Amino acid sequence: MTTLLYTHPVCLEHDPGLHHPESPARLRAVLAALSSSQFAELDRREAPKAALEDLLRVHPRHHVERILKAVPMAGHVAIDADTVLSAASGRAALHAAGAVTAAVDAVVGKEADNAFCAVRPPGHHAEPDRAMGFCVFNNAAIGALRAREVHGLERVAVVDFDVHHGNGTQAAFETDENLFYASTHQYPLYPGTGAADETGVGNIVNVPLRPMSGSGPFRRALSERVLPALDDFRPRLVIISAGFDAHRSDPLAQLMLDESDYVWVTEQLVELAYRHAEGRLVSTLEGGYDLQALGASAAAHVGVLMAA
Ligand SMILES: [Zn+2]
Repeated sequence: MTTLLYTHPVCLEHDPGLHHPESPARLRAVLAALSSSQFAELDRREAPKAALEDLLRVHPRHHVERILKAVPMAGHVAIDADTVLSAASGRAALHAAGAVTAAVDAVVGKEADNAFCAVRPPGHHAEPDRAMGFCVFNNAAIGALRAREVHGLERVAVVDFDVHHGNGTQAAFETDENLFYASTHQYPLYPGTGAADETGVGNIVNVPLRPMSGSGPFRRALSERVLPALDDFRPRLVIISAGFDAHRSDPLAQLMLDESDYVWVTEQLVELAYRHAEGRLVSTLEGGYDLQALGASAAAHVGVLMAA
């Protein structure tokens, strides 16, 4: 039983500027937490760059070209109020997406049971034709479409427990009944989408949670809404948008989860993957802005993947 860990040094170089919450220190915290002896068995791999054709399954060509052309030689370029590019951002975004496509290839190819992609920039707010919310390309959606179109997996689900709604993944999936997107998120909160009545073609499940909800409502949302819908969908691959900003210590939200909730939800999704997808599961880092909580939560998550 093996778990892969994909990352790339350039993901530490993407620099949205001083005091930006989506800082290189986030990834350093995750990698430091995964460097203890408990994680010695991780199969560590350098993430390749995503191929242009992988990006184009989600994003229109003119949009990809516009983003990559906007990357500055030095200094910063703001795409919107909170999405900022530095010189390394284009390469970081390509390696972040490439981590997920490589992880999909390896897990489908039975090189490992599952994989965690420790990358940034994150992806779930990136819509097909719009980078936003700290996100450049939609890493999870790019991996899902590669699984389907290159590997022929009929149905792929993305489950997103980041505290924010993954508007980008929803936008990429909402008209395709062979893709499934489920999200628990604080509501109302950025980006404003994710109401329960946003259901796509029956393939989107949004469970908005009130601020201060905590463990009970989160676990009920999964048990009563998300997991039954996933069992009906029968995914052949499970991709997790693993944001850890629903943690009680997070400065950007108030959902009041802790590490034990991340252990629990990961166990549920590993079991789901074994019920329907021969255990195939790829997880990719999204948000999480308290460095201590982020490291501890990512470690708790990966620990469950390794025990699968
Ligand atoms: Zn988030």
